[in-house]
Formats: sequence, structure tokens, C-alpha cells
Amino acid sequence: MKDIIDAATKDALSVFGGRATEEFQRRLAQGRLCSTRCRACHAVAFPPREFCPDCHGREVEWIELPKEATLYAFTQQQRGLRFLAPDVIGLVEVQGVGHFLSRIDAPFESLAIGMRLAVGFLQIAPGIWVHQYRPARGVPDGPHDP
Ligand SMILES: [Zn+2]
Repeated sequence: MKDIIDAATKDALSVFGGRATEEFQRRLAQGRLCSTRCRACHAVAFPPREFCPDCHGREVEWIELPKEATLYAFTQQQRGLRFLAPDVIGLVEVQGVGHFLSRIDAPFESLAIGMRLAVGFLQIAPGIWVHQYRPARGVPDGPHDP
């Protein structure tokens, strides 16, 4: 497999874990970007958590996130911290979730604030997947499973 990440990131992944992370990875491998929603206050956390960061409730359920997002801000790193440079990073806005950072799979010069993005998936090491976004071209919003 072609290296997409640097050696330090590979090392960090070996100690990255937890039940929520394992379930998140399992769903990413199926092409589904999911996270957890609190059963008590209905807040959606991203990344997924085993508890609610808002009310500290322990009852959370998995939901599939919308397949589209809006690009809120973006930048490019000439020296990649996680991925090989140049690494384009965006702050994306996802309906019902809020804002979070994501890899953007498009040239920096092609991006504009407010553009619609579609989620995609990238295997960065054997069994390790990440979500990423690229400019949307009429991608329909998929079903959300509770
Ligand atoms: Zn809550």
C-alpha cells in the first residue's frame, strides 16, 4: 500500500483505540460516516463518544451523518502533520452536528468558502480509514439510521 501518512502518524494509530473508535472505524470501512447522539439531550458529538460531552449522559446511540457538508474555512499545510504534504484541511459544517475539521481531497486553489462538499473515505493504513470531503457534484443525501 502506498504511504499516505507519515511514520509518526502510523505509530500514533497503534495506540489509538476505545470502543467508540472501533465502531467508528467499522462503519467508515463500510462507507458510512457515523457518530453518537445523546439519548437524553439529543446532542450529536463528533468524533463519537461513549458519553455525552454536553450533559455527561452515558446513553448514546449511533447515527449516520449527512453525506454533504458546507466548507466553512480551509487551509493548506506545506509540511504535512498527518498526511503527506501538501495537506489540505477544512473546517466543515454538517447539518445537525456543527463544525469539525476534516481532510479535504481537492487542490487548495479549487476551493471556496461556502461550497458544498461530499464525504468520501480513504484507507490510510491496513484497516484504518478516515473520512474526507471533496467538492460535491449533485451527491444525494443518504438515509440516516438511528
Ligand atoms: Zn446529552
